[in-house]
Amino acid sequence: MRKRALFLAAYFLAPFLLIMAIFSSNTGYYGASGFIPMVLGATAYTLLNAQLILSARPKWIEASFGLDRFYRFHGLMAVIAVVLALAHKLLEGRTFPNSFQTKPGEMALVLFIGVSTLALVFMADTLVRLFLPLRFVRAFFVRLKIGKYNVQKILHNVSVLAVALAFLHVMLTYSAHNPLVKALYILYVGAAMGFYLYHKVFRKWFAGKWFMVEALVPESGSMTTLVLRPRKGSVFSYLPGQFGFLRVFQRGISSEEHPFSISSQPLDKSRLRITIKNLGDWTGGVRNIQPGSKVLLDAPYGRFSPPLYDCKDGIVLIAGGVGITPMLSILSY
Ligand SMILES: Cc1cc2nc3c(=O)[nH]c(=O)nc-3n(C[C@H](O)[C@H](O)[C@H](O)COP(=O)(O)OP(=O)(O)OC[C@H]3O[C@@H](n4cnc5c(N)ncnc54)[C@H](O)[C@@H]3O)c2cc1C
Repeated sequence: MRKRALFLAAYFLAPFLLIMAIFSSNTGYYGASGFIPMVLGATAYTLLNAQLILSARPKWIEASFGLDRFYRFHGLMAVIAVVLALAHKLLEGRTFPNSFQTKPGEMALVLFIGVSTLALVFMADTLVRLFLPLRFVRAFFVRLKIGKYNVQKILHNVSVLAVALAFLHVMLTYSAHNPLVKALYILYVGAAMGFYLYHKVFRKWFAGKWFMVEALVPESGSMTTLVLRPRKGSVFSYLPGQFGFLRVFQRGISSEEHPFSISSQPLDKSRLRITIKNLGDWTGGVRNIQPGSKVLLDAPYGRFSPPLYDCKDGIVLIAGGVGITPMLSILSY
């Protein structure tokens, strides 16, 4: 609870800090007509950098919220940030209609709008639920592969370029002549890029746990259980019902990561089980995984676990289809 409050306080104080620094750098201008565009711009800049931090799904933040809530927050704040940036552009554009400093900002804005729209249609489904006819557009692009979740996940990386352009934009503004403001611009973008780099490059060495596929067990229907053995030591600590991001390293199988619940229970320290239903491109190839292949699991994630709640009167578990997997872990635990 305290961690959650701390994170939210830091998240919402960061724009305030930047606003105060910019305001005190030139109270004459920012105390008059420049105030509102500055507040919009500074808040948008901070929130857009914060989105890059969130997309790196830091475990210490995720553990307090759960990944589903965490991603919903990320989506909502991204939309708010883009709206603020657009309002900033519309107001500030009137004061500096053709200035060079606005160009990188405009390019960043176009990229952010594009990335957010694609994510809301193809990754979060939000726009599809709001405008039902969009599901035909979505289905069409999914058939062309470009609408597939994992292709969209790659396209989502364009937001890094947008963050870099937004940084260039703020550094070209007059406010960056103030050393404190400049330091905050650099600190925010540095933190965002640092988290992004960690997530994309270093996470697998620091956060990933290596396993070897020991066996494949065919289950009923189109489900297969992978039995995994740690390559070193024993299985990490996790709670029943938690999940992880799995990558398989075997020729002929894409090493892209996919989220799966752990269907074994945490008291078994020698093996870990993951039960996968054939639902698409990647899961369709699971039955071709060979015993002996190396897999990397970034885990544990999630808060769907009875030990995290007051369950002294017992629990009722209701599952459909492959949704049974976390329940298997909870039941056997
Ligand atoms: C927290 C969580 C736990 C899960 N646990 C299990 C489990 O125990 N067993 C199981 O069989 N399935 C589980 N899934 C679903 C599983 O991740 C998807 O079925 C799988 O990623 C589909 O990949 P695909 O390429 O075969 O299918 P595709 O045809 O590419 O996609 C099918 C659907 O899966 C979703 N999806 C695809 N890739 C990803 C991704 N990388 N991240 C999130 N969603 C994606 C998309 O919404 C898409 O509509 C879980 C999903 C989540 C989010």
